[in-house]
Amino acid sequence: MQNNLKGMGIAVLGGDARSLIILEELVASGAVVNTAGLPADVLPAGVHYFSEPEACLAGVSAVILPVSGVNDKRQLYCPMTSQPLTFTSELAVCFPPDIPIFTGVAGPYLSKIAAESGLRLIELMKLNEVAILNSIPTAEGAVQLAMEMLPITIHGSCAFVLGFGRIGATLARLLSAMGASTWVVARRPEHLARITELNLMPVPFAEMSRYLGESDMIFNTIPVPVLTGEVLDKVSSGTLIIDLASAPGGVDFQRAASIGVKAILAPGLPGKVAPKTAGRILAKVIIRLLYEEMAG
Ligand code: NAP
Repeated sequence: MQNNLKGMGIAVLGGDARSLIILEELVASGAVVNTAGLPADVLPAGVHYFSEPEACLAGVSAVILPVSGVNDKRQLYCPMTSQPLTFTSELAVCFPPDIPIFTGVAGPYLSKIAAESGLRLIELMKLNEVAILNSIPTAEGAVQLAMEMLPITIHGSCAFVLGFGRIGATLARLLSAMGASTWVVARRPEHLARITELNLMPVPFAEMSRYLGESDMIFNTIPVPVLTGEVLDKVSSGTLIIDLASAPGGVDFQRAASIGVKAILAPGLPGKVAPKTAGRILAKVIIRLLYEEMAG
């Protein structure tokens, strides 16, 4: 990473292993980096540790919050410390005015505080650039789960991917490259055409139930209820369902359990299976955006 944020003050509040990578990359870019909500003994060299978030914020030109933002208990995601940071409107007024505040997905509480306090939130997961790159560790993590949970190989299996967006497209290509017979459910004609072009099996959304009985594994990426009770009744009991869509997901988990179909919700895979890669993806985009801000 180039030395392109030289002298810029940046505060990183809370976060997980991805934040440590972001800290490393920011220091390598020449930024002056303060942090709170991460353990002092794991911080990369050159990072200034603070026990209180307010003290971190003086004079900074940007703040980086955890990817998962703030939970409904008003806590910043700080799984590496025993004392999570609380994000209040009092803390929000300590932010220097008009600086960019990065998070992954804001959620209702942070969005509300940001609107009330005039914070300039940038939700990284909403940027296509981030979502597409992030689909790589997500797809690999999903395949890893399937390999761990099923007694068969991916090669020679029958895999269904529901949705052909950022994650669906990456995952379908990965499964096919590993030798799975890969069926992809989509609703848009142009997506069905692209699925055909990729030598994958296209399934129109409305016809999904007719085919799912053949599946060994189903990966859902559609963030609305798709695997409803009625659809699940067509799925064989040995099939594994991995729901990648954001909570509450797209699967009727209760119904799946009642008919003996194993179904799991698998959120936050990039941070779990590849924190270094996921941190680098975020750092690269944050540094580019900050460099553009500096350049005016
Ligand atoms: P995306 O690019 O927006 O793709 C979503 C797909 O769902 C598209 O194919 C879309 O079809 C389809 N879809 C949406 N609403 C639909 C409906 N009502 N009926 C039928 N199809 C519908 O999203 P993504 O980036 O792939 O992410 C997918 C989900 O995974 C999101 O919930 C995201 O937050 C989550 N996610 C999970 C992880 C993880 O680790 N599990 C990581 C990152 C993201 P159209 O194109 O026709 O609208």
